[in-house]
Amino acid sequence: VFADLSAQINSSPSKSDQNENLPEWLVGGPESVEGISFQLCEAVQEVTGRANVIVLRDPNTQIASVVAVSSGGDRRLLGDQVSPSAAVGRACMSDVPIVGADMEDLFGSSRSDRRQGAQGGVAFPLWDLRECIGAVAVLGEHSTLAAEDRDRAQWLIKNAGPRLGRAATLRTAEQRAMTDELTGLPNRRSLERAMHDHSGGPCAVLCIDLDHFKALNDGFGHAAGDAALRHVAAIFKNALRAGDVPARVGGEVFALWLPGATAEKALDVANRVRDAVRGSILEYAGNDIGITCSIGVASIPESVSQVDNLLGAGDAAMYRAKEAGRDRIEVAVRKSI
Ligand code: GH3
Ligand code: MG
Repeated sequence: VFADLSAQINSSPSKSDQNENLPEWLVGGPESVEGISFQLCEAVQEVTGRANVIVLRDPNTQIASVVAVSSGGDRRLLGDQVSPSAAVGRACMSDVPIVGADMEDLFGSSRSDRRQGAQGGVAFPLWDLRECIGAVAVLGEHSTLAAEDRDRAQWLIKNAGPRLGRAATLRTAEQRAMTDELTGLPNRRSLERAMHDHSGGPCAVLCIDLDHFKALNDGFGHAAGDAALRHVAAIFKNALRAGDVPARVGGEVFALWLPGATAEKALDVANRVRDAVRGSILEYAGNDIGITCSIGVASIPESVSQVDNLLGAGDAAMYRAKEAGRDRIEVAVRKSI
C-alpha cells in the first residue's frame, strides 16, 4: 500500500523527478499516430474525468482535423476538420490554452449542426519540441475543471507531444514514399504492396497507357502533359469503388487494381474508364484537348493464376490494344499449352 501511495505521490506533476514516472505508453508503447493519440486521450480522460478530443495539424496543408476521441466522447467527430478561427484551431498555433463557450466556438460552425450543445471546453496546445502540432480539447465547463486535474492533463499533453510529433513525421514520410507527387495517386510501390496483400480469390488489374502522349507534350508543352496526367488521374479515381487502387506506375502509364473483381466486372470498369477518358475534354490554356487511352485487362483466374503475373499479363494485353489501333481494350487470356 505504501509503495502504491508513494508511486502516486511521485507521479504528481509538481514533483521534479516526474519524468521517471512517465506512464508506460509514453516510454515504450505504441508508435503510430493513432496508437499514441488513443492512449493520450484515454489518459487525459482518466485524470480529468472528461471526454476529450485530439486534433493534429497537417504539416503540408495546415488543416487541423480530429485524430482521436476519448471513450466518453462523440466518435462522429473523428476525421472532422477544425476551423482555423475556432478555439481548437487557434490552439493548434498557440502557446496558451484557449477556451471555447460551446461546440461551435470550439470546433467551428461547419459541423455544429450534428453536435449542437452548450458544452464548451478548453483546447490545450500540443507541442512537439519546437512547434505546435495540434491541440487537445477537454470538453465540459472549463471553470469547474479542478486546477490539479488540469495540471495533470497538461503534464500528459506536454510529454506526449514530442512522441506524437515523431510518429506524425514518420507517417508523412511514409505516405510521401507511397504517393506519386504529380497526381497524388498511389505509386508503383504502393500498388505492388496492395497487390501483394491480396488474400486470394478473384481479382483484376487494368493497365492503362495514354495514346500519343508524346504528341500532346510536343504540341501543347510539358505543362499541358502534366495537366493531362492529373486530369486522367481524377477520372480513374472517380471510376473506382472503395478498396480499389488507382496507381501511376510510370510516365503516362497507370494501373487500376481491382481486388475481388471478376473478369466481367473488370471489363465493365475498363469500358467505363475508356469512355470517360475519351468523352472528357482537357481545357488547357485556351485549348480543348482530347485524350484517349489503351487498356489491357488481366484477371485471376481467367488470365493468370498468380498475382505476381497479373501486371505482366495486363501490360502485354495493353500493347496488343496499341497495335490494334489504340483507344481500345484487350483482355489477357491464358496461353494454352
Ligand atoms: P503511344 O500511343 O504508343 O503510347 O505513344 P506515346 O506518345 O504515348 O508513347 P511514348 O512512349 O512515345 O511517349 C511517352 C511520353 O510521355 C514521352 C514522355 O516525355 C512523356 N512523359 C512521361 N512522363 C511524363 C510526365 O511526368 N509529364 C509529362 N508532361 N510527360 C511525360
Ligand atoms: Mg503512351
